[in-house]
Amino acid sequence: MAGQRWRNSRLAQVIGELTAELDHAWAELLGASGVAPGTPDETALAWLVADDPTGYGWRVVDAALDRLTCTECGATLTRGPVGCGRCGYYHGVRFAAREVDRPDVPAGNEHAIRVAFAVARARHRYSPRARAGYELVLPSLVAGDLPTTAQAQAAKALINRLTPEECDDVASLAEVERLAHRRGPVNG
Ligand SMILES: [Zn+2]
Repeated sequence: MAGQRWRNSRLAQVIGELTAELDHAWAELLGASGVAPGTPDETALAWLVADDPTGYGWRVVDAALDRLTCTECGATLTRGPVGCGRCGYYHGVRFAAREVDRPDVPAGNEHAIRVAFAVARARHRYSPRARAGYELVLPSLVAGDLPTTAQAQAAKALINRLTPEECDDVASLAEVERLAHRRGPVNG
């Protein structure tokens, strides 16, 4: 993550907070399992979690992946090139992790956070439009919102009017709207 420049400061802050939550969740699992950090046992535990994430919260699963090296391409597991089958496999499997909503948020909020965070951290696996859609909404998801289907579709329709370069440059949904409307009426 070092050196990554996020499209706005709020997103950078939220990514930092979620990354800290991953580290915290991992430290808790280590403590509960009686495993010392930096030991081969930690690596073994991380593989155990990565291979069968269904019993773990998604923060623990993502933390495990962050601590593993891909035996095929040598990158941090799931961070390798799109062509690496092993990274692709584990990137897919991660979504079997548990996603428990926080209190007082709309049902499905945690799933949306989980997916948006995964997209933001595996940007090269997704199109510029997908990146823009998920990254622009992530801070509001973390704040406890969940767009309705209609809202999500409206945002997607606007993003679809942008060029790939614009998608990677936009810093806010307001900016998306401005650029999209410059191309004429959206439903006209
Ligand atoms: Zn790989």
